Amino acid sequence: MKNGLNWNFDNSYSRLPDSFKETIDPVKVKKPELVLFNKDLAKNIDLDFSNIKNEELSALFSGNLLPKNSNSIAQAYAGHQFGHFTMLGDGRAVLIGEHLSKNKKRYDIQFKGSGKTAFSRNGDGRAALGPMLREYIISESMHHLNIPTTRSLAVVKTGESVMRDTELIGAILTRVASSHIRVGTFQYIAARKNEDELKMLLDHVIKRHYPNIDKAKNKSIEILKIVLEKQVDLVVHWMRVGFIHGVMNTDNMSISGETIDYGPCAFMDVYDPKTVFSSIDRTGRYAYCNQPIITKWNLARFAECLIPLIDKDQNNAIKIATEIINSFENKYEEKWLNMMRDKLGLFGDEKNDQSLILDLLTWMHEVKADYTNTFCYLMGEKIELKKYYEDKRFLNWMERWKNRLKLNKNSSEKYLQLMKSVNPLVIPRNHKVEEVLDSANQNNFQPLTKLIEILSKPYLQNQKIIEYQLPSNQKEKYQTFCGT
Ligand code: AMP
Ligand code: MG
Repeated sequence: MKNGLNWNFDNSYSRLPDSFKETIDPVKVKKPELVLFNKDLAKNIDLDFSNIKNEELSALFSGNLLPKNSNSIAQAYAGHQFGHFTMLGDGRAVLIGEHLSKNKKRYDIQFKGSGKTAFSRNGDGRAALGPMLREYIISESMHHLNIPTTRSLAVVKTGESVMRDTELIGAILTRVASSHIRVGTFQYIAARKNEDELKMLLDHVIKRHYPNIDKAKNKSIEILKIVLEKQVDLVVHWMRVGFIHGVMNTDNMSISGETIDYGPCAFMDVYDPKTVFSSIDRTGRYAYCNQPIITKWNLARFAECLIPLIDKDQNNAIKIATEIINSFENKYEEKWLNMMRDKLGLFGDEKNDQSLILDLLTWMHEVKADYTNTFCYLMGEKIELKKYYEDKRFLNWMERWKNRLKLNKNSSEKYLQLMKSVNPLVIPRNHKVEEVLDSANQNNFQPLTKLIEILSKPYLQNQKIIEYQLPSNQKEKYQTFCGT
């Protein structure tokens, strides 16, 4: 079988010049074994798997059997990692092709952990099972939380081990993205100082993601504005659910506005704006509260790449770009405020809304209340650890909130509907994620599939979710690792 799953490939990125990529097949693995397959996603993108045996799926999603018309490449990119510019590229991933669904939507199909490429530097090109399953769980959870994200189609064990601090089980994740073009892709091409290539990349991105600005007088100005909007929306979503990306380097910021690269990310439990989980983020550069600031910083790096295309007069180009970048704060603050109003069920726009919101956050911070569960409590959900909400300061705040709700100019149930649409009842709790990964590493995938199932309906009440709502009671601080 050469063309399992009826892929419909049209590989537009691989038609770009050689400087954009290396053409390379995934390195074959010893004994592939499919451990997760996302049937819903497969169906959504019109991949029919009904006649395909697990063995063939294992071969397909390990790269041992390359589908017809795939043309696999490792993409070149650069990036600012913790503020420092570096040449990077797909060091442990290959894009096997761009699949078109029936309605002509284009999806990058990428294997992560598929062996060495020209960009591997000192790495082995491989990935361990734990981090690939973690990406599967959290990216799918983000999707169901209605947040733009890359998705996960399959995880295959390779039958090989990878050496990290200890010997680990090797695995490959199939990632589905609207594209893998990053701010870092622009940085790579811009660093080559070849304007034709830069224009080519810009045209490629516009055709693919933003066809509505194809006829604009100055496409580079328009793309900067659009990407800024997309990134403001994205980071507001992250703030809404308490998601901490953990490694917001410019190579991990997608031009399409999807969340990408689930390495050391995790969800905040106790509300603390300075929360950092990643072991390598020693200065807290990517802490929860810094995410909007870093988004703006990354967008400024994107703007720098576009300078030669914005205006022949460099000073003028810089002036135009700076003005756009400086629009970030106002846009962010407005969208953040509206998002928080939604979380509290507030319609309209009253002058004291901001202080009402900030007072709740300050209280949560001071008493160390759980971010997600506090909103659940306000929605009338039965939440254990109720003692927090008997605090006098909180009760006073509730009075103010209830008075503000009276100013909503619509029926009284509407506020609850609004809150229920934006406040998740379940998020991937750190201790739960660790628990299911431990089991999976011992070849028991049942807790993992149950967690994925629970996280697929985060806004719906259901008796089964109770044990997934509790924050960890561990005293030790939770830490995440890059998983490279
Ligand atoms: P990430 O931290 O996943 O964003 O990766 C940063 C860079 O390191 C990218 O260029 C990756 O391709 C590369 N990289 C990460 N892990 C490995 C590995 N095991 N082997 C080779 N390259 C890697
Ligand atoms: Mg990355």
